[in-house]
Amino acid sequence: MECRIVTIPGDGIGPEIVREACKVLDKVAQVYGHSFRYQEVLMGGCSIDAYGVPLTEEALKAARESDAVLLGAVGGDVGNSRWYDVAPNLRPEAGLLAIRKGLNLFANIRPAYLYRELAEACPLKKEIIGEGFDMVIMRELTGGLYFGERHTEEAGGVLQATDTLTYNENEIRRIAVKAFGIAMKRRKSVISVDKANVLDSSRLWRKVVEEVAKDYPEVKLEHMLVDNCAMQLVMNPGQFDVVLTENMFGDILSDEASMITGSIGMLPSASLNESRFGMYEPSHGSAPDIAGKDLANPIATVLSAAMMLRYSFDLDKEADAIESAVQKVLTEGYRTPDIMSEGCKKVGTIQMGNLIAERI
Ligand code: NAD
Repeated sequence: MECRIVTIPGDGIGPEIVREACKVLDKVAQVYGHSFRYQEVLMGGCSIDAYGVPLTEEALKAARESDAVLLGAVGGDVGNSRWYDVAPNLRPEAGLLAIRKGLNLFANIRPAYLYRELAEACPLKKEIIGEGFDMVIMRELTGGLYFGERHTEEAGGVLQATDTLTYNENEIRRIAVKAFGIAMKRRKSVISVDKANVLDSSRLWRKVVEEVAKDYPEVKLEHMLVDNCAMQLVMNPGQFDVVLTENMFGDILSDEASMITGSIGMLPSASLNESRFGMYEPSHGSAPDIAGKDLANPIATVLSAAMMLRYSFDLDKEADAIESAVQKVLTEGYRTPDIMSEGCKKVGTIQMGNLIAERI
């Protein structure tokens, strides 16, 4: 298979971790007979330095014309960088919002998986962790409360602010279809999270999700109220496979789910549009405090590359190979400083990338 990948290393540790992910992809290409061609573009602070804006039209065009985008992270030390002495729409993170919007990436997928080897970093009690957990939070990314009409007004000397939460059935259907498609590649269970006891938008959400479920008879569908879901995530995380939810609920629940894995350097993510196109990136930021020191954990980015193979290129076997190479390296006791524990072997960013690539 031939794939054109736009890479956006970005700022801080971004270039270091994207380099390691490409190293692993190159090994996959060599072993499985594929060709991955990369085009590197600038976004974030480095684009501000070069062009005065965080994302150029040319960079967006290159991303649009590629088969998938692999992103490191953007941004600098917020309190201490000249990139933040400008209007919000010219700051590094504005590039991120612009590319998500420009590529119509409405489906955000964030897996939360507990590696047995890293169970000590999990803040939950052992009896709750049980056999561990392996879930995917599927969050609608371009609708709902964050994109509805909003205004603040004064009435009779009292300030009043209004935000509106709107979803139409098409927006719900397309994310539900993605969630059921992903469930078919996993344990075939979807828990759809809403607040249908209160909100009209949630009642429509539930109705449309049930319609979509009819096309996936093998997938078990359950509904859960968002307040209950927030509790269940810390009481019994092992029950979740695919969690499907709207924008704001997903924003909060995906952070909760990632926190219970205990290690930010391990968590990949994907944002997809209507076709198979997607942008893949670690869930963490650009970590300026450790940039350029060979200290960054590249695993979240390597696992994001595995998601790219699975969701954009349908290369499941190759994605499995990356995930099991990561698992092997952890089982053999190699750790970057952020996940280091007693008795393990400490390695840097580059060596971690080498170790994973060698095990493909
Ligand atoms: P951060 O995720 O960059 O860092 C938080 C802490 O986690 C830091 O101590 C950092 O050293 C550590 N860390 C993060 N990733 C790591 C890794 N792979 N290996 C080892 N340690 C790691 O969050 P922050 O400090 O709040 O933000 C730093 C910059 O990143 C800011 O400019 C912020 O706006 C930006 N940011 C970008 C994205 C993105 O590009 N998607 C997301 C979040 C934050």
